[in-house]
Amino acid sequence: MSERLDVLRLGYRKGRDPRITTHLALVARAMGADGFLLAGDEDKEMFENLKSVDSRFGGSLETEHVSGLGHLRRHVENGGTAIHLTMYGEPFRKAIPKIRRDKPVVIIVGGAKVPGDVYKLCQHNVAVGNQPHSEVAALALFMDAWFGESASERNFDGARLVIEGTNKGKVVHEIEEE
Ligand code: SAM
Repeated sequence: MSERLDVLRLGYRKGRDPRITTHLALVARAMGADGFLLAGDEDKEMFENLKSVDSRFGGSLETEHVSGLGHLRRHVENGGTAIHLTMYGEPFRKAIPKIRRDKPVVIIVGGAKVPGDVYKLCQHNVAVGNQPHSEVAALALFMDAWFGESASERNFDGARLVIEGTNKGKVVHEIEEE
């Protein structure tokens, strides 16, 4: 049984960021996170949308609104591993083998302005290429490398709809409730 892994999005602005932040949460869910944590504005509607994805496609992504730096500080004080995705960091393929997996892990994704303390509190500042790009792309590439093949081949318990990947057309199995 592997340790818990959460993705923490900092500095969420409800008026500006819902679409990209929903995409972050969907990547976190699809690639194997246990939880998606939001710091900044609260957004119950987004959390409900994520629950509805679980109710159709299975799994149980936990969602929680947290204080960003406070949560991160406690996580590290309690012995957890904190990985900050930033273009200024160490290249991710070089960093991953050095990161502890025997403690709960939080992956931090920045918002509009990332406080300097985040860089200091996290044991790992990790880059997916040293150029600015998308937090969604950075998270997907990082999680794929972190979990390897199992990232995109997970079981999603309790699914009503199960997609069978195919070269042509759409194959979707509807699961009868017992
Ligand atoms: N202006 C912000 C700042 O002060 O750093 C960065 C905005 S950027 C679009 C949002 C987030 O995407 C970053 O905080 C980081 O987590 C992620 N990101 C962007 N480019 C990245 C890269 N090359 N490697 C890792 N993460 C990256």
